[in-house]
Amino acid sequence: MFVSDILKVKGSDVVSISSDEPVAAAIAVLCEKRIGALLVLDSHDRILGILSERDLVRAMNGFHDAVFSKRVGELMTHRVVTCSPKDPVAAIMGMMTAQRFRHVPVMDEGRVVGIISIGDVVKSRIEEAQAEVEALRQYITM
Ligand code: AMP
Repeated sequence: MFVSDILKVKGSDVVSISSDEPVAAAIAVLCEKRIGALLVLDSHDRILGILSERDLVRAMNGFHDAVFSKRVGELMTHRVVTCSPKDPVAAIMGMMTAQRFRHVPVMDEGRVVGIISIGDVVKSRIEEAQAEVEALRQYITM
């Protein structure tokens, strides 16, 4: 299974926000879309950062009420790790575990073509394991 197989099912929609939006706007989008992270893009759709629930919790702990006077660009993670549609899902799962993040934008020829979450990766790995079990079951009962 490859990242492109996940994107075939979930599509290439990426929910994004601009770095100068207020934090409250980011929280509203996360809640409305029921997602855990927003990609922060510039006006040319280039990645500037990523803002996840974890960044917001960390900022609440550091800034308390003042968190609501912050802009997305002040709280986002700047160095974003991306993957390619050609990457194996197992490798991305290992990377998410080792680096402790749950979202990876997918880039193809310099363009953002999707984002995959730990939920997408786990679902894909379970489906793969189930298909293997079924193939083995058919093999031994032949
Ligand atoms: P997450 O587990 O994805 O909610 O994010 C945990 C932390 O890692 C947060 O500080 C995020 O901003 C950061 N993060 C999430 N995804 C990535 C990524 N693909 N590259 C770099 N940092 C990330």
